[in-house]
Amino acid sequence: MHGTNALAEADRLMTVCNSCRYCEGLCAVFPAMEMRRVFADGDLNYLANLCHGCGACYYDCQFSPPHEFDVNVPKNLAQVRADSYAAYAWPRAFAGLFARNGLAIAIVAAASVAVFIAGFVAWHGASVLFAAHSGPGAFYRLMPHGAMALLFAAALVYAIIAMLMSVRLFWRDIGDPPCTGIDRSSLWQAIRDAGALRYLDGGGLGCHNDDERPIDRRKLYHHLTFYGFGLCFAATTVATLYHYLVGREAPYPWYDLPVVLGTLGGLGLVVGPAGLLAAKWRRDPALQDAPRFGMDVAFIVMLLMTSLTGLALLILRATPAMGLLLALHLGVVFALFITMPYGKFMHGIYRFAALVRYALERRGAPSGGT
Ligand code: SF4
Ligand code: SF4
Repeated sequence: MHGTNALAEADRLMTVCNSCRYCEGLCAVFPAMEMRRVFADGDLNYLANLCHGCGACYYDCQFSPPHEFDVNVPKNLAQVRADSYAAYAWPRAFAGLFARNGLAIAIVAAASVAVFIAGFVAWHGASVLFAAHSGPGAFYRLMPHGAMALLFAAALVYAIIAMLMSVRLFWRDIGDPPCTGIDRSSLWQAIRDAGALRYLDGGGLGCHNDDERPIDRRKLYHHLTFYGFGLCFAATTVATLYHYLVGREAPYPWYDLPVVLGTLGGLGLVVGPAGLLAAKWRRDPALQDAPRFGMDVAFIVMLLMTSLTGLALLILRATPAMGLLLALHLGVVFALFITMPYGKFMHGIYRFAALVRYALERRGAPSGGT
C-alpha cells in the first residue's frame, strides 16, 4: 500500500523499468532504482527527488503512450516530487495549507508588502514614505535598522529551522538516520553533482523540454537562478558585516562589494527565472504535472519579483520612489523567506540530500530499509 496514487503509479513504473533497464545510462535515477527490488514510499520519494526532470527517458522509452504500458517516468516523478514537499513539511499543520501553494504564496506576498508599507507609514507618516532620501542610513529613515534586522532574522531563522526539520524527516524516510555514515567523499561528490546539475543533461545530449529534440537551455537558466540567488545572499551577508563590524550603513556606492554582488546576482535572478518561466510555458504537455503548475510558477515569480524590485530599488534609491520600492522589496523577500520551506525551494534541498544518499550508495554504504 502506498500513501498516494502517484506513489502507487511510481511503484508500477519502477517495476517496469527495473525489468527493462534501457535508460540506465541517462541519469542517477535508474542505477539507484536497480539497487532495489521493492519500492517503499521513502524509496520512491528518494528517486523522485533524484530525478532532474530532463525528459530524456520519456522520449527514449518504447513503452511510453500510446503503448498500453503507459510509461511516463518524468511526469510521474514530478508529481511524487511535488507531493513530497507537503509530505515532509514542518510543522505538519502547514503542509495542507501550502499543498497547492500558488495561492498561498500570492496571499503571503501581498500581505507582507501591505504590512511593510503600513509599518513605514505608522512609523513616520506618509510624508517620509514619499520623500527622497539619500546618503548613508537613507533606508533606515523609513524603518530603523534594528527593527528591520529583527524582522528578517526571525523569518530567516524560522525558515532554516523548518527546512532542517523537513530534510531530517526526508532523510529518515529515504534511508539512514540523521547524520550517520556520511563520509567526506560522498558529501563532496554530491556537492559537485549539485553544483554542476550533472543529471540535467539527458545522459549527455541535453535536456528535453519542448519536444524530442534535446536542445533545451534549462540547465543554463537553473545555473543562473542558483548562482544569482547565492550572489544576492552573499551581498546581504557582506552588507551585514559592513554594518556591524565597521559601522558602514547602506545604501553603498555602485562600486562597493555588496552592490556589485547584488547587481550580478540580481541580473542572474532576472534572466534565470525568466528563462525558466518561458521554458515552463513551452514544455511538452506530456511532461507537465499540470495540477502543480501553479506551485512552480509561484516560486519562480517570487524569485523574479525579488530581483526586479531589488534592481529597481538600486536604480531609483535616491528618488521619491525609494520608500515604496523598499517596502515592496522587503515585503517580497519576507514572503520568500517564510514560504521557502513549503514549496519548490525544497526541491533544491531534497535533491541535494538525494544526491548525498546516491553517492553513499555508490560507495557501498549500507542501504536503509530495502
Ligand atoms: S523509461 Fe521505458 S525504456 Fe526507460 S527503462 Fe523505463 S521502461 Fe525502459
Ligand atoms: S526525466 Fe531525466 S532525470 Fe528524470 S528519470 Fe528521466 S532521464 Fe532521469
